[in-house]
Amino acid sequence: MIKVAVNGYNVIGRRVADAVALQRDMVLVGVAKTRPDYKAKMALQKGYKVFAADDRAVKAFEKAKVSCSGLSKDMSAEADVIIDATPDEIGAANKAMYSSLGKKAIFQGGEEHEVAGLSFVAQCNYEKAKGRQFVRVVSCNTTGLCRVLNSLDESFGVTKARVVIARRAADPDEIKKGPIDAVVLDPATIPSHHGPDVNTVLPNFPVITMALKIPTTHMHLHSLIVSLKEKSISEDKIIEEFAKTHRVMLVDSGEDGYKSTANVVDYAREIGRPRNDIYESVVWKDSVKVIDDEAYMFMAVHQEAIVIPENIDAVRAIAGQESREESISMTNRALGIFL
Ligand code: NAD
Repeated sequence: MIKVAVNGYNVIGRRVADAVALQRDMVLVGVAKTRPDYKAKMALQKGYKVFAADDRAVKAFEKAKVSCSGLSKDMSAEADVIIDATPDEIGAANKAMYSSLGKKAIFQGGEEHEVAGLSFVAQCNYEKAKGRQFVRVVSCNTTGLCRVLNSLDESFGVTKARVVIARRAADPDEIKKGPIDAVVLDPATIPSHHGPDVNTVLPNFPVITMALKIPTTHMHLHSLIVSLKEKSISEDKIIEEFAKTHRVMLVDSGEDGYKSTANVVDYAREIGRPRNDIYESVVWKDSVKVIDDEAYMFMAVHQEAIVIPENIDAVRAIAGQESREESISMTNRALGIFL
C-alpha cells in the first residue's frame, strides 16, 4: 500500500483525498488544513485524519474544538507521497519541507514547471515520472489539451495548434470573483500562458493560445484549430482515434442533445458522479471538421475534476510498480471512468 497525504483540502485536495481513499493500493494518511471549518468537520466525518497547516492553525482547531492529529509536517513524515493541493506558489514554499523529510511529492498546475522539473499527464509521459521525487500535475486546461493533442499527434502528426479558451470565471464557491456581466480578456496579450504550459509536456509542436474569462462557474470551453502532418484525414478517422483515447469523451449536439456545457454537467449528475465531476476531456463529435489539413473542434474541461485521475496516476508513477496502462485502468475503474 502506498501511503498518501493530501496537503491543502479544498477544490482539488478534497477530490484527490476521496480518490486516494478509493484506490485498492493506496491508503490516505490524512489531510492538512488551515481552518477548522465545515470542510474539516466533514473530513473527520468521512474518517480522515485532519492535520493543521501550522501552529496558528493548531490554535484555531483547539479553539473551535475540532479534532486535529498534529501538524502537516507530522502528516508528511508518515506518508510515502504527499499530494500538495495548496494555492498557487504555496506548493513551491512547501517543497523544502518535503525535501528535508526525504519524501516524494506531487505539485499542481499553479506551480511553475521548475518546482518539479517534470510536468505530467498520464497518457503523455507516465514512464518519464518513474521513480522521480517530484512531479507537477499540469493545470486543468493543459491536461485537457494534452490528452487531445497527444492523441492527434500520435495518430496523424501535429505541426501546430491554435486554441481559444473561454475560461470559467470562478469555481462555484468563489463568491468574491467575477465577472458577472462582462467578457474579460485574460490576458489581452497573446499568447496566454496555456500554450507554453502544454509545451512543457508536449514540446514537439507550437501551441498558441488566447484566453477569455466568461461569467460561468462549471466548465472551460476550448475552440481548437490543429494543423496535421498527414494530409486528407477524414473527420471520421479523427473521431475513431478519440474514441480509443483514454479520458476523452465524445458527445454530440444533434440527437444526443449536448447543446452546451450545462448538458455535460447534467450527464455527470445523471450517472451519479460525486460532485458532478467530469474527469474526461469532452469533445463535441459533430464539431470535428477538417478544412485544408486543419482539424477544428470544440472541447470542454471541468476545471475542478479533470486533474484528479492524473494525480492518482502520478502517485503510482513515482511510488508504484505499475505500467502506464495498468495504472490508468486501475484509476479509471476506481473513479468510474469508462476509457
Ligand atoms: P483552493 O484555494 O481551493 O484550495 C487550497 C486550500 O489549501 C485552501 O483551503 C487553503 O486554505 C489551503 N492552504 C493554504 N495554505 C496552506 C498550507 N500551507 N497548508 C495546507 N493548506 C493550505 O485551491 P485549488 O483550486 O484546490 O487549487 C490547488 C492547486 O491546484 C493550485 O495549484 C491550482 O492552480 C491547481 N488547480 C486548480 C484548479 C481549479 O480549477 N480550482 C484546477 C486545476 C489545478
